Amino acid sequence: SFDQFLSTVPTGLWLDGVQSDAVDGGTFEVLNPATGIRLTQVADATGKDALRALDSACAAGPAWAATAPRQRGEILRAAWELVTARTEDLALLMTLEMGKALAESRSEVAYGAEFLRWFSEEAVRIQGRYTTAPSGNGRILVTKAPVGPCLAITPWNFPLAMGTRKIGPALAAGCTIIVKPAEDTPLTMLLLAEIFAEAGLPAGVLSVLPASDAAAVTAPLLADSRLRKVTFTGSTRVGRLLIEQSAQQVLRTSMELGGNAPFVVFDDADVDAAVDGAMAAKMRNGGEACTAANRLIVANPVREEFTAKLTERIAALTVGPGYRDGTAIGPLINEKQRGNVAALVDDAVAAGARVRTGGAVVEGPGFFYRPTVLDNVPADARIVAEEIFGPVAAITGFDTEEQAIAAANSTEFGLAAYIYTQGLERALRVADALESGMVGVNRGVISDPAAPFGGVKASGLGSEGGTEGIEEYLDTKYIALPM
Ligand code: ADP
Repeated sequence: SFDQFLSTVPTGLWLDGVQSDAVDGGTFEVLNPATGIRLTQVADATGKDALRALDSACAAGPAWAATAPRQRGEILRAAWELVTARTEDLALLMTLEMGKALAESRSEVAYGAEFLRWFSEEAVRIQGRYTTAPSGNGRILVTKAPVGPCLAITPWNFPLAMGTRKIGPALAAGCTIIVKPAEDTPLTMLLLAEIFAEAGLPAGVLSVLPASDAAAVTAPLLADSRLRKVTFTGSTRVGRLLIEQSAQQVLRTSMELGGNAPFVVFDDADVDAAVDGAMAAKMRNGGEACTAANRLIVANPVREEFTAKLTERIAALTVGPGYRDGTAIGPLINEKQRGNVAALVDDAVAAGARVRTGGAVVEGPGFFYRPTVLDNVPADARIVAEEIFGPVAAITGFDTEEQAIAAANSTEFGLAAYIYTQGLERALRVADALESGMVGVNRGVISDPAAPFGGVKASGLGSEGGTEGIEEYLDTKYIALPM
């Protein structure tokens, strides 16, 4: 039983640098997706708590913005060290509330922590510029200032990293931030907040507000003129709602929304490398990633070889609770999500797709779905248009490069794309032609805290990570001076 471990994990709202009950005393349950049984309960924030957090953020804001960049960096650096030292606790907690295999949770701790280290280094490299006006009779000075109090709304699929990649740049820039974690996975962010306090972060700079009703917390904040920015990772549907609400106070927005990544294998690809890449791009995090390969678009001459090899690998994956030794694929996050995945597969099969392996839920407790390969997926099946968010590989064929590019681009989304080819010129030509914020060339995993992560089209606005990431939290100010 994990009860003893769970009893050490904070379950109150994180407000003003301490744990706190919700104003009305409410709580909600967090489930273990591997069993469907309650893990614990956490404080359930309301609109009143949201305004308490904003009061606290506004009180802490000026001193935090005035804190020396080096000092802000040192606190982020200390948080990176503490998170790294607590890898096993954070990994187990993520596996318990989110379901992924422990090895994947450990990777996420390393990846998530790296945003803290990267932005600890960026805090001291916030750059402005100076130039002489072309007329010669003025000086142009450009400075950067923190945007002010931010609201971050995060998803359940990467409970740590989707928080740190917003918190890291916000704190480095000198902003305060209120995090509304996903209702399925609030515990990881609460533990992170406690770790930040230990790292020396002043009270009020970071608040964490778990809530069973997300909008009850976010709507009053978005309507309050003291809030200056919203940063969101989640569905395009909710992103559109938030952009609409952001118009009221003309907020800065960063939106990391849905994806529908094409994974294109050309006939000149190293097929074994492509299969390795597809395993990573498709099965990492159980397929529950916005960068997950959603459509495997494979050149007809190599399609059967690729499909047979991929099917063998996917059929061999061990499904089980993430905390059991040997598990490769854990449960899906909840019954609703599993229902979505099952419905997409059933729809594709009814439309003519062929099941090479899997294709069904795992009976019994927990929200498991069998790792699946579908071949001959018709272009008009729902699974081609919608984000799967599960361990299902959907394969279609193509004949010409033009067809592959057209197929890859025929989606409202544009987050990640993957191409496998041994031709350098083809790689660059196709990468240019893809309507996508990120392109992996002969790589199945592209996320890197030092690189700008973001999408085009309905996949969102703005970049997280890289040298670009901190700009999302900085306002530009132009100071005009005489000669
Ligand atoms: P998913 O489909 O992956 O669960 P969502 O977009 O529904 O993604 O959720 C991502 C985050 O957005 C979660 O923290 C969730 O609580 C929050 N959220 C959902 N609906 C709203 C809403 N109407 N307003 C603000 N936040 C919301």
